[in-house]
Amino acid sequence: MDPDEPRFGIPGMLINGEWIPAGEHGRAEVRAPYDGSLVARVPVAGPRDVDRAVRAAAEALRRDDFPRADRVRVLEQTAAALHERRDHFARAIALEAAKPLKTARVEASRAVETFAFAAAEARRFAGEMIALEATPPGAGKTGFTLRVPVGVVAAISPFNFPLNLVAHKVAPAIAAGCPVVLKPASQTPVSAILLAELLNGLGVPSGWINVVTGGGGTVGDALVAHEDVAYITFTGSAEVGWGLAARAARKKVRLELGSASPLIVDSPSDWRTAASKTAVAGFAHAGQSCISTQRIYLHHDIADDFLEELLPRVEDLRLGDPMDEHTDVSCLITRDDTARMREWVDEAVAAGAKLLTGGEAARNGIFRPTVLEGAPPHTRVQCEEVFGPIVTVTRYADFDEALRLADDSRYGLQAGVFTADLGKALKAAKTLHFGGVLINEVPTARADQQPYGGVRDSGNTREGPAYAIQEMTEALLVTLQA
Ligand code: NAP
Repeated sequence: MDPDEPRFGIPGMLINGEWIPAGEHGRAEVRAPYDGSLVARVPVAGPRDVDRAVRAAAEALRRDDFPRADRVRVLEQTAAALHERRDHFARAIALEAAKPLKTARVEASRAVETFAFAAAEARRFAGEMIALEATPPGAGKTGFTLRVPVGVVAAISPFNFPLNLVAHKVAPAIAAGCPVVLKPASQTPVSAILLAELLNGLGVPSGWINVVTGGGGTVGDALVAHEDVAYITFTGSAEVGWGLAARAARKKVRLELGSASPLIVDSPSDWRTAASKTAVAGFAHAGQSCISTQRIYLHHDIADDFLEELLPRVEDLRLGDPMDEHTDVSCLITRDDTARMREWVDEAVAAGAKLLTGGEAARNGIFRPTVLEGAPPHTRVQCEEVFGPIVTVTRYADFDEALRLADDSRYGLQAGVFTADLGKALKAAKTLHFGGVLINEVPTARADQQPYGGVRDSGNTREGPAYAIQEMTEALLVTLQA
């Protein structure tokens, strides 16, 4: 294959229904993190491109030419078309994000569900009747609310789910009747552009879906600052997310950020299932999931058995090329991240942690799946988001102590607890300050229709089509005086 020939031919960025092959700053190469091969050439937008895209979106909102029935049709047809082309999308995800093909296929299938749930909700969501007549000033009045679109939505997405997290922003926005300007992550714009191509081909009127590609500090910043943007939906790191929220005081800013997800495995419990699930949940996409299982707290009684079950499974994970059907774990998104893994492991070991397996880089930026025991709470593998293939285990004697350790984090996305005791399960649900507490499940589980999001540094919203549509619409009160 010609090394200068990109693996994906893409038409450019989409502004006001037109494909623009190069941005204000020309084009940039997207290269595969695993082997550096050329995936695509994409436009590098600048502030003027962003301005045109946002103005086109604002104009689309004024034109109001995308009726709800058409939006339902487009969402349903997108789900069907995505299903048909899921293998094509999975290949794009695998190449640009180094997500192993089998995991990329799961993401593509999940994006189908995200569109299907948004379509179902688009058929259903409505305002409510208000009982105005229940007080004297309301006598003779009938009141109800309409759910009206909040305005132009700016969507900024991360590299690790380049299709489904774009779907979680674009599909509810279409359902809600909000025009979108999307800025995908610089490393992974291809899946997003393929999705926009599909939507455009299904007859979305011009201006309703715009995609601008380019850097976060330029394109992202211009989008956040634009006065015609009403709503920002951001998924990414806490540092970038809270920073942009501080700069956009007059806008509705919804953040889905990182975490250092804990898993408690108590006794008695189905620790064997917990161990086999952890071998996937801690290492899928090399741990680059916002709810990757990271900090594991094991009751003394089952700790040895759990590790005996977990460690061989971790050592058996197949490392390699994301495009290989058999690969379980591929490389991290950048070589700097691979080097960072080593630093964080070394720091933990120097502080007294025991390296049970892994701990070093393999070929092509892959870091060997790693399990550390007894890392002190102040080490970065415990208190920061690792976002790599490293899990820590810590033994405990008392369930309340495990709850305290699990809760001791600046993050709060999802927590998992394995226990056979219903009382402890309920206590965990009420004590742990997280967006979701999953009983007899790893914290890494997510269904696309659930309310998903975090507290503390992990964010300030819940995604999932029904919840995002509520956020992207506002209640408009109408009263009628008889
Ligand atoms: P990131 O570096 O924060 O980037 C996310 C997006 O923000 C990218 O599109 C990036 O553009 C853009 N960006 C960067 N600087 C910006 C700025 N100053 N203004 C506006 N936009 C800017 O995150 P990432 O490394 O792609 O993703 C990993 C993070 O996402 C992890 O922390 C993970 O936990 C989190 N995440 C959270 C969820 C959730 O639902 N809670 C889901 C997935 C991932 P460039 O790519 O051009 O830099």
